[in-house]
Amino acid sequence: MELLYKSTRSDSAPVTASQAILKGLADDGGLFVPERIPKLSCSIDKLAEMSYQEVAYEVMKEFLTDFTQEELKNCIAKAYDEKFDTPQIAPLKEADGTCYLELFHGATIAFKDMALSILPHLMTTAAKKNHIKNEIVILTATSGDTGKAALAGFADVPGTKIIVFYPKNGVSPIQEKQMVTQKGKNTHVVGIRGNFDDAQTGVKKIFADKELEKKMEENGFQFSSANSINIGRLVPQIVYYIYAYAKLTAQKKIKEKEQINVVVPTGNFGNILAAYYAKNMGLPIHKLICASNENKVLYDFFETGIYDKNREFMLTSSPSMDILISSNLERLIYKIAGADAKADAFFMEALNKEGKYEITDEMKAELADFYGNYADEEETAQEIAALYHKTGYVIDPHTAVASKVYRKYKAQTADQTYTVIASTASPYKFTRSVMNAIDHKYDAMSDFELVDELSKIAKTTVPNAIEEIRTAPVIHNTVVEKEEMKDAVLNFLKIK
Ligand SMILES: *Cc1c(COP(=O)(O)O)cnc(C)c1O
Repeated sequence: MELLYKSTRSDSAPVTASQAILKGLADDGGLFVPERIPKLSCSIDKLAEMSYQEVAYEVMKEFLTDFTQEELKNCIAKAYDEKFDTPQIAPLKEADGTCYLELFHGATIAFKDMALSILPHLMTTAAKKNHIKNEIVILTATSGDTGKAALAGFADVPGTKIIVFYPKNGVSPIQEKQMVTQKGKNTHVVGIRGNFDDAQTGVKKIFADKELEKKMEENGFQFSSANSINIGRLVPQIVYYIYAYAKLTAQKKIKEKEQINVVVPTGNFGNILAAYYAKNMGLPIHKLICASNENKVLYDFFETGIYDKNREFMLTSSPSMDILISSNLERLIYKIAGADAKADAFFMEALNKEGKYEITDEMKAELADFYGNYADEEETAQEIAALYHKTGYVIDPHTAVASKVYRKYKAQTADQTYTVIASTASPYKFTRSVMNAIDHKYDAMSDFELVDELSKIAKTTVPNAIEEIRTAPVIHNTVVEKEEMKDAVLNFLKIK
């Protein structure tokens, strides 16, 4: 049965999955949501024997119904290959009685790879299906992680080009090195003199420029976005929750149909929404535990029903969760409002105008699937140290936020349900914070000395993604003023 996608903000005509992937955002500014959440048609028993790629097909075919079997399998094969450093793609590690689902074995050692390694293939397939002849040009502004994962995903994918803008003095040295050494003839990385907001605003302006759009069309190009609100990123993220559950039954960690909890370190609300969709597909999930860092907008929302972004923005050791507007939450708001586009549009208008909104009591009652809490900087560092000293397992600060929040949840509820924590980044990506948390004797060491020390104490090999940048030559050295971003795009595309 064909599954169509509609906007969260109006009752305009629904579109196919491939159209939703190409467009990213609906014309009315809303997000695309499936008209219904499909049920898993394959039994857990069968899924338990499958590879990651096979599970991915079983899950994604339910959502992307206008892709043929061959097309979808092709996309999956190209995405989940040797770019990942383990054939399991998303391995499970048990430590201290809890299961860590490692989502960082892809090209850039963070969980964004899980979706961004397949999005380029879904997008080029969608373009073909919709008879689009233009080359797709991906524009992204990044504060560090998304840019590199998108570059790695789109590099050398035929029919695409990708341009990433980052704040020249606003990303970590390792993050910058990762980006400026990116290979691929279709990639372009540009530093701007300004902050992340300037980069983001500049990209939005370019997207909204009608004259430029026309010029692009004349030259055989069109823009698209690899943003985390694209359903082409959301759907691949549902896969690993189902894969993890199936593997846990195969390993006899849980019984058939036994419920599990899922803990997700959250920023934009994409990853945890995928877990919620997995639950709605029929996966036996008890609580969805939403973990925030000191930017605890979501914790406050789950406590009070009020979403309020009017507060100080905190810089933390888990930067990918330093977010005050969790874009994907809109899909949950829409659902708990009873799939009411008018109500959703009302809340989003209030968020836009006043920076806050309050949901109704009926909507609040629909949030019982969720539990929210947060961990501050000290608790996060203590969690890294405590888990390491107890078990030898080393986690990154994002995962540590989740791990700490889970401890708080257990202390409050005494819930003994078997629990899976989404482990979203390799500790090698945040070596300094991790090593500082474990022992201050590491404070004086250089970044790469820390990498080698981490390898010793964690007894893991240094990932390729880190080895590569030790010696990789800088390929991209363009730096522009924030007013020159459009020119940078035109130059790269050789448009006059
Ligand atoms: C993006 C990111 C997150 C947050 O995920 P959302 O889907 O935005 O909630 C958490 N941890 C890491 C390492 C990330 O890169």
